[in-house]
Amino acid sequence: MTTYSMTALYARGMYSIKIRIKMLARKGWKCYVTPMKVLTRNTDFTASVDSPVLAEKPNLLGMTLDELETFFISLGEKKFRGAQVFQWLYKYGAESFDDMTDISKTLRERLGEAAVIHHAAAIKTQQSGEKEAYATKKILFELTDGRKIESVFIPDDERRTVCISTQVGCAVGCEFCATGWMGFSRNLTVGEIVGQLIYIRKYIDPGISNVVFMGMGEPFLNYENVISAAQIIANEKGVGMAAKHITISTSGIIPKIYEYADAGHPYNLAISLNATTEEVRQRVMPITKKYPLTELLQAAKHFNSTRRNPVTLEYVLMADVNDSNADALRLKKLASELGRCKVNVIPYNPIEGPALKRPSQERIDYFMKLVSSIQSPLTLRRSRGTDISAACGQLAVKN
Ligand code: SF4
Repeated sequence: MTTYSMTALYARGMYSIKIRIKMLARKGWKCYVTPMKVLTRNTDFTASVDSPVLAEKPNLLGMTLDELETFFISLGEKKFRGAQVFQWLYKYGAESFDDMTDISKTLRERLGEAAVIHHAAAIKTQQSGEKEAYATKKILFELTDGRKIESVFIPDDERRTVCISTQVGCAVGCEFCATGWMGFSRNLTVGEIVGQLIYIRKYIDPGISNVVFMGMGEPFLNYENVISAAQIIANEKGVGMAAKHITISTSGIIPKIYEYADAGHPYNLAISLNATTEEVRQRVMPITKKYPLTELLQAAKHFNSTRRNPVTLEYVLMADVNDSNADALRLKKLASELGRCKVNVIPYNPIEGPALKRPSQERIDYFMKLVSSIQSPLTLRRSRGTDISAACGQLAVKN
């Protein structure tokens, strides 16, 4: 991909996109131009747009147990009704008050007048060409405001994992990630986050074993909603998934890593590392300019000091960017300095836009060999669902 300065663009007579580029530049975006279209990467990480008000009546989907209990008390009803509805929403996936058969008809009618249960609409499901029992599925959801997000279901012999989104787009702008190239629209509500899992468990596979917050968006830039969603998923009256099967991934929002560690939340933490030097990380993850690698590793150490389950370091392997012998040795050193950690190497999955390449299989094998004497558990992630653009880093929709 060729990168042009704005002056160069004007010199080339590309006036049709001139105004758009000016607008984007004012918002702190960098513009990259291909012969076909303008691609954008955000370099302003302060962007934050909260979810729109979705309905006049409160949406019960997304309320925590405490919030539902408070809601019923405000209606003059008994507090235990909150737990009853909590179970219906998250354990049984009720989509209407009429489904709640142990609640009297009178109360159901009252609920219908006072509140709604609103699920995002699943408008498309794509299935990978893998063997039926192992087929990855990608689900496209349309939200109340017409925006769209994707979630992925990934079955294998041991796990049936759902990868869920936390934002519409993403402000972090990692070079290797299609969501980053979309830009950022808004945070998802708690209901929109949990709703992805509820839908997949109800309509695709009832035996979901793991949830990873690794879909579209940076979970720690939608911190409160992500934590509430994880609490609902882990609550035994809710989805009832063991906390050790829930993983939240971050690109390295350092203040939130400290907050998360100190709050003692029981879910796993993964850090998307992807480079062993400040320079390379700044290139592939511009957020490094704000949150440097050295400080990120300190934050990871702090997290480890508060947990039995150590942090996982994710490392997207990109040809001629971070796959050299020196990179492998630095990764090994960095992991051993961190002490306890897991390392997960993910060969880059191609996306439209950046001039990045997946390393050859030979290079991947050699990189793994160099890192293999590491003390920490080391895994090489197999790419799943690349034929439907559902693999790591490939989620993106047009909103
Ligand atoms: S990898 Fe994660 S943080 Fe980076 S742009 Fe993609 S969604 Fe955002």
